[in-house]
Amino acid sequence: PALFAPSRENSRGFDITDRPVRDALLQSRDSELQDLAPVAVPLIAASLQNGPAEDVANPATGETVGQVHAATPAQIEAALASAQPWTLPVSARAETLRRAADLYESNAPLILGLLAKEAGKTMADAVAELREAVDFLRYYAAQSESLRDPARGIFTAISPWNFPLAIFTGQIAAALAAGNGVLAKPAEQTPLIAHLAVGLMLRAGVPASALQLLPGDGRVGAALTRDPRVDGVVFTGSTETALKIRAAMAEHLAPTAPLIAETGGLNAMVVDSTALPEQAVRDIVASAFQSAGQRCSALRCLYLQEDIAKPVLEMLEGAMEELRLGDPAQITTDVGPVIDAEAHAGIDDHISRAKAEGRLLKQLPVPPQGHFIGPAIIRITSIADMKREIFGPVLHVATFPADGLDRVVAQVNATGYGLTFGLHSRIESRTDTVAGRVHAGNAYVNRNQIGAVVGSQPFGGEGLSGTGPKAGGPEYLQRFTARAVPLSIW
Ligand code: GLU
Repeated sequence: PALFAPSRENSRGFDITDRPVRDALLQSRDSELQDLAPVAVPLIAASLQNGPAEDVANPATGETVGQVHAATPAQIEAALASAQPWTLPVSARAETLRRAADLYESNAPLILGLLAKEAGKTMADAVAELREAVDFLRYYAAQSESLRDPARGIFTAISPWNFPLAIFTGQIAAALAAGNGVLAKPAEQTPLIAHLAVGLMLRAGVPASALQLLPGDGRVGAALTRDPRVDGVVFTGSTETALKIRAAMAEHLAPTAPLIAETGGLNAMVVDSTALPEQAVRDIVASAFQSAGQRCSALRCLYLQEDIAKPVLEMLEGAMEELRLGDPAQITTDVGPVIDAEAHAGIDDHISRAKAEGRLLKQLPVPPQGHFIGPAIIRITSIADMKREIFGPVLHVATFPADGLDRVVAQVNATGYGLTFGLHSRIESRTDTVAGRVHAGNAYVNRNQIGAVVGSQPFGGEGLSGTGPKAGGPEYLQRFTARAVPLSIW
């Protein structure tokens, strides 16, 4: 299929730097949220009584945003029993997904509001996320029109809280576009956005038997990955969880059932002495601290060439001072909270240890309450010092000598991960060779390394970072069909 499928444009989103646009958007957002008391319930084809309700908390304020009823074992069983592939002709399926995209756009104020309240998304991040979700719907709709192979059957879709709309929607849209039925298990922290999204897809015309929502914790996901009625699993989350899913699938599902997983990363950026320092600093700040570092694409380990390390670090520390932490619902906020108490404690612990060892170079102060982490810089000697992905606004910095670039590439490749990589250099031969030799699904040169765009920058990693194929790319849908070829070690 063509990379740029005809008759599709990416969503325009909103230019929130344009004052009238922004004010109108904020006003409708606030009026939508005013009397809203959202509740996420299982949306299943059978009608069964809901389990007990639990509160969903705003990570910035601790306030209750709404309530969730986790799927009960009886509801999970009923969903599995009534799940059906989506047997509509492909053009009608594509039309339905496009209608869902339009509904997402026309409900933008409410969606943006919930993304801030439930997931701690800043306005800029929420706008980008909504666009990405809409793009996934339209892109997979367009791609499906040239798909020749039949659907696989029923897919379990397990999605993360860091893109509770975009990745949630992308997984579902792909499985549906290929004609599968979907059992969607959203992240435990973000069921309200998931409920809203599934509601819109059902309203667009996706049948209840082809798309069922099962909120809850890991137990729901576990049940949905160890039932032989499931024909494949699409998952985004930690590498550790992906390996558990793989093991469960091996035991309970057909041996041919695919796992399509996007997992963690230990992403590096290299800045050499020919880089433009101002541009590099701007891109480092965005890559490491935007979304409070809660992207699997985020920059974790910055390698600075020794000769420029001192001035670049000084400039970086100055730029960090400009970052505003706070309530993501405020338009002026650059860095929102991390998702919950557990994430908060884990990241704090990592920073405290670095501090005790004298390696904390800088950390910004935090607002008095909420799950905020002050963006931090920690000195290390190489990426090999990093034992795991720290999913927050923490940048690790190492230096390398003028003749040390090959060693850096070897160290980055030795992590076993391969998600994103950034290079700032004005030596053209270097940009080609380094970006080519480094194991990374998405390598970015002289720009930031987050925010891949559906259709033009398919996103996904290699090695421990995922199975491929890349989301938002021309090969993705094929994996959801019966003619899929099993890939890699997964
Ligand atoms: N696609 C996102 C990006 O390019 C990252 C997705 C993720 O964090 O899982 O920034």
